[in-house]
Amino acid sequence: MKHGNISVFVPHNGCPHQCSFCNQKSITGVQYQPTPEDVDNAVYTALAFQKKYDYEIAFFGGSFTAINREYMLSLLNAAYKYVKSGDVRGIRLSTRPDAIDREVLDILKSYGVTSIELGAQSMCDEVLSANLRGHTSDDVANSSRLIKEYGFSLGLQMMTGLYKSSYDRDVYTAKRIIELAPETVRVYPTITLGGTMLGDLYLKGEYIPQTLDESVDLCALLLKMFWKNNIEVIRLGLHYSEDLKKGMLFNNYHPAFKELCESKIFIDEFRKQFGIDENACFNESVNVTVSINPKSVSKFVGQGRENIKRLALQGINVNIVQDNDIALYGLKIVG
Ligand code: SF4
Repeated sequence: MKHGNISVFVPHNGCPHQCSFCNQKSITGVQYQPTPEDVDNAVYTALAFQKKYDYEIAFFGGSFTAINREYMLSLLNAAYKYVKSGDVRGIRLSTRPDAIDREVLDILKSYGVTSIELGAQSMCDEVLSANLRGHTSDDVANSSRLIKEYGFSLGLQMMTGLYKSSYDRDVYTAKRIIELAPETVRVYPTITLGGTMLGDLYLKGEYIPQTLDESVDLCALLLKMFWKNNIEVIRLGLHYSEDLKKGMLFNNYHPAFKELCESKIFIDEFRKQFGIDENACFNESVNVTVSINPKSVSKFVGQGRENIKRLALQGINVNIVQDNDIALYGLKIVG
């Protein structure tokens, strides 16, 4: 059965301070604090829309385990009755790595929580400190191990292109995350928002955001690293919202960012198998036939047929044949 989240945003609640990049209103478009009735409404709406999903009620947006305890329990209570009735499989939440301990995990276990996502963001302490995260990479590692010890599904979130980070530091973070063996990851390229410390640094010229192309290059590599280690990437890039669009000071956002990265992986693989780099150019056009899994054709072709056009500029005309035996993220040049 297909998995689905019934999302309830708990914006910027429980955060001890403001991280350098964070303006929760811009990211989620929500500032209202949900009530237990909002949880009920979200569940009713989801079940009325699509009953056959394997649902988790998902408390996203802030630092769920650091919010006022009474308020946290009221939301968990509202959600847990749907776990007990079997309408949903469990509860998912996101929180800070330093807001996890055995006492909290005991509570979450008793309320039917199934999955916990930690906002790790980076595994470099210098980057964490520069971005005012208020926790260390050891907090991420220790909390991750504890979450797994309790039998929860672990999710880790990382950000790329943060202040004081670099390509190598982001790759290092992905490697450390892989060592912690989460079931899922989310990768968020940093978006520079007004009303944040990062926004101020950018305006002063002290922070240079990654361009969209740099971000795609890096995140395509991270995606491959996670795939190779059987870690599901459940999100790559922020969800679009009008507030996000309005709040951005530097435009390196793309609403279909994950597809851009996947297409990059496909064109790189094609060039590798064909023995060329991106600068190669044939004087006379060559025709090449490539076999691809039917589910991956659009990823190979790219948005607006971008990959096909790029290869055509190199003098390569691609003919695609669909083959179910080709792996989802593979391709084979057959002629
Ligand atoms: S902990 Fe999360 S929600 Fe809180 S300020 Fe930092 S990024 Fe924003």
